[in-house]
Amino acid sequence: MKITIIGSGYVGLVSGACLAEMGNDVMCLDVDARKIASLNDGKVPIHEPGLEPVIRRNVEAGRLHFTTDTPAAVRHGTLQFIGVGTPPDEDGSADLQYVLEAARGIGRHMTDYKVIVNKSTVPVGTADRVEAVVREELASRGIEVEFAVASNPEFLKEGNAVEDFMKPDRVIVGANDERALLLLRALYAPFCRNRERLVLMDRRSAELTKYAANAMLATRISFMNELAALAERVGADIEAVRHGMGSDPRIGTHFLYAGIGYGGSCFPKDVKALLRTAHEQSVPLEVLAAVENANERQKRVLVDKIVARFGESLDGLQFGLWGLAFKPNTDDMREAPSLVLIAELLRRGARLKAYDPVAMAEARRRLGATSGLSFATTADEAAKGCDALLVATEWLQFRSPDFAQLRGLLRQPVVFDGRNLYDPVLMADAGLEYHAVGRPVVE
Ligand code: NAD
Repeated sequence: MKITIIGSGYVGLVSGACLAEMGNDVMCLDVDARKIASLNDGKVPIHEPGLEPVIRRNVEAGRLHFTTDTPAAVRHGTLQFIGVGTPPDEDGSADLQYVLEAARGIGRHMTDYKVIVNKSTVPVGTADRVEAVVREELASRGIEVEFAVASNPEFLKEGNAVEDFMKPDRVIVGANDERALLLLRALYAPFCRNRERLVLMDRRSAELTKYAANAMLATRISFMNELAALAERVGADIEAVRHGMGSDPRIGTHFLYAGIGYGGSCFPKDVKALLRTAHEQSVPLEVLAAVENANERQKRVLVDKIVARFGESLDGLQFGLWGLAFKPNTDDMREAPSLVLIAELLRRGARLKAYDPVAMAEARRRLGATSGLSFATTADEAAKGCDALLVATEWLQFRSPDFAQLRGLLRQPVVFDGRNLYDPVLMADAGLEYHAVGRPVVE
């Protein structure tokens, strides 16, 4: 099938590459000329495991193209996917300017039947707005061209995006047009050979499903974070509690990890946007409002522990920081809890030395000029000579360091672990004072 992807970021690029991998003829469009030039140069602008070879293979096979040329991109695909950003607006609602601009571009240039498929995360009713915008453009050109708008929210996870797209848990398609449905069913059939994974519904339900899923996952995280605070107070260990709870299949093991709060480009903004929609509809989502508040508090939990240990002023103290990305296997730092940690500690006079296995370039771009913050080239270098080590991202390479060596590197043998990676007893044995989230400090 001939497919156009509008927006070549995490979602657009992965979708485009994976759809090409399945034999489709894909053109990826972006307004960012530098991104497209870099892709045409064979360079992948984001870190996503396994993506580069899929892109290379499909570019070589002539099935994957990158362009900034909107008319050419609109001409190319019968299916026009919109995968542009939907960042939070000032009031927390999803800013739809990029989605509507993409829709306008399609309406301005289309000359034959198109299925416009919205993959961006958008509030309920956006498919109707996209339809209206395209109709307006066609009317202003004085022509009539048939088209359909479908909703196909994306569920890939950064860090595992290629695998998620190629073997999805489910593909949600919301459409009210038979021809569009037929095309989308055919497009996704090879990804969902077990047909139960293709879930068809109306457009509004599809749009709400995406927010509902992310809101539920955020809820599990905030629930565990609040419980972790209680566990600390009553002398329980949240890790034991997590194991005990998760072994009940009605609860399951996923997203029960206490830590320093959720971040990234999706959960924070999607929770805000769903709360905004609920507010506009005068429907209380009190549980979700609490989830957001708890998360804001949680991002400061390590700071509170550090202050409790070292005092309000951190003047003259140097901390090593392991992990900057909002989660492992990505270079994405959007809304990363590490950013709050860094800002709060610097504000109290500390100096920080940070290391991340892949997000260093992104960190330099965002924080390069921040006074008091320096960047290390290895994990050891970040820890060396520090008054404490802080762990903000659960990268595999941080999970089992040589504790004796770590102790030797640190000026004071103190570790604040925002991801509960280590065993408190082993840490105590190694002579490391270990502060985790929701776990007792073992003397
Ligand atoms: P991103 O910021 O990485 O990429 C968006 C791209 O769209 C940018 O390259 C931008 O230049 C481009 N763009 C903006 N306006 C354009 C236009 N008019 N024409 C062409 N290109 C345009 O964003 P992302 O992380 O890929 O997210 C995209 C959408 O998918 C969001 O709604 C997000 O919520 C949703 N989503 C993201 C993820 C994720 O893990 N990142 C997962 C599921 C869903």
